[in-house]
Amino acid sequence: MDITEEIKNLKKAKNAVIIAHNYQLPEVQDIADFTGDSLELSRKAMELEGFDVIVFCGVRFMAETAKILSPGRKVLLPEADAGCPMADMADPEGLLKMKEMHPGAWVVSYVNTSAAVKALSDVCCTSANADAVVRNAPRDKVIFLPDRNLCWYVRQKVKGKEIVCWDGYCIVHRRFKPGDVAMARKLYPSGEVIVHPECDPEVQSLADGVYSTSGMLRRVRESLSGVFIVGTEEGLIHRMKIENPGKTFYSLGPARTCSNMKKTTLSSVKNALVQDRYPVELDPDVIRGARRALERMIEYI
Ligand code: SF4
Repeated sequence: MDITEEIKNLKKAKNAVIIAHNYQLPEVQDIADFTGDSLELSRKAMELEGFDVIVFCGVRFMAETAKILSPGRKVLLPEADAGCPMADMADPEGLLKMKEMHPGAWVVSYVNTSAAVKALSDVCCTSANADAVVRNAPRDKVIFLPDRNLCWYVRQKVKGKEIVCWDGYCIVHRRFKPGDVAMARKLYPSGEVIVHPECDPEVQSLADGVYSTSGMLRRVRESLSGVFIVGTEEGLIHRMKIENPGKTFYSLGPARTCSNMKKTTLSSVKNALVQDRYPVELDPDVIRGARRALERMIEYI
């Protein structure tokens, strides 16, 4: 039997739902019940009813987020070592020290953080709502972690608050360079250059627009332009092409892939369903603290 048929049958037998991030391999996105960015998937995990198991095709912090929002369900991460190097750059001990250095500051954590870091935060955000979350923070001083580039983006958008940036970054997005934008302008002069706020400030400044992944999808749908040069993980281009058959998409410079996002394959999804692996387990106190930070974020949007 074809592996996609096997997965469909297993899903039914286990009463499972498959959720996949936009950066997953195209064939994994195609078998998923829902695809989206971290914000859309966080909401989906909260709203889902009638399923016992969530198979989360993404990286660990995303599966943890699904578990935090749906603690009664079994959440499976098909590849146990699919992590996010940027999330690993922020640790609870370091955050506690930073809080001591900036007493009274409101802690805003990007969803790309571990559950333990979320539990020590006041509120979470995604790249789609980071500026709104910081703007609405009830204090004048904010600690923002872990992405220094998203923090720079927020500083441009939000005035009147002191924003202390953590020094983390995404190893994939930092590989986009100003020279890639210059080359794209030369090759596709009428093209629209859109980049993610995890890119370096120099790249953000040169682009036509800076958008979260959901913002990019909306932009390419609504823009009158027919050619787009996309500065984010190349997996998003798969969805752009499906949703916009008359438009053309190029990666900004050589295609940049996140190796952690590409660890999940159809075989690992099948094995996850057959062997119930790898279940996400979290301490109940961590779940409580992290859930409060995530729910506050959802209130803002
Ligand atoms: S693309 Fe960057 S932020 Fe996203 S999972 Fe990969 S390393 Fe982490």
